[in-house]
Amino acid sequence: MAETLLYEGKAKQVFTTEDPDIVLHRFKDDATAFNAEKRGSWRDKGRTNAAITTALFGYLETCGIATHFIEQVDETTIKTRRLEMLPVEVVTRNVAAGSLAKRIGYEEGTTLRSTVVELYYKSDALGDPLLNWHHFRELGVSDEDLEFCEELGLKVNAALWPFFDERGVILVDFKIEVGRGADGTLLLADELSPDTCRFWDKETGDRMDKDRFRRDLGGVEDAYAEMLKRITGGETL
Ligand code: C5P
Repeated sequence: MAETLLYEGKAKQVFTTEDPDIVLHRFKDDATAFNAEKRGSWRDKGRTNAAITTALFGYLETCGIATHFIEQVDETTIKTRRLEMLPVEVVTRNVAAGSLAKRIGYEEGTTLRSTVVELYYKSDALGDPLLNWHHFRELGVSDEDLEFCEELGLKVNAALWPFFDERGVILVDFKIEVGRGADGTLLLADELSPDTCRFWDKETGDRMDKDRFRRDLGGVEDAYAEMLKRITGGETL
């Protein structure tokens, strides 16, 4: 397959294929945090995140949520539809943690009265700021697209909360991205993995996500492996 590197992100590379409507996403072992001020890498991160994203996008499709995912092609690579991405990161939260805990002065771990959806502007140069609808309108994002983003955050949450609950995991929060296909339809895109979600063990409260790297808690490789096991029902790398 004629592959050309289209885009290199912090944790993924995107390649073109012979089909202009299809791309490959290769998950790297690299990690960054705090707008790339902190960098790291660990064994099997790419393989774990590719397998988790495959399982979760496959599950969401069975729940009637349309995604860009087509198939996994090798241990670290998934094939997807090529989309034009909205410049929006949609964060959906069930429990206060991270930036929300700081922003509204809640202790981390406080269960939220109802699900909170936030829209961030995807801009490394600006540090991905939280914006309101007026700002997004000014930037040329339509109300229709913003409404889709917020509804999708809630739908994905409604599907994933019970999925993780059954597996002994609290889905604290997660980030998704949205893109538009050549036919104009909006689809769930990017990835869902311990890089982009907060997962806390229901019994112990242990963090099983990228916060182990962000906060130097140790055991990050084991935490990602444990999440893969819980999600796929035993499969390990
Ligand atoms: O840092 P914050 O509390 O705003 O993160 C909320 C959620 O969004 C977390 O699950 C985090 O992993 C995810 N996130 C992300 N990419 C970003 C910012 C946040 O995946 N650029």
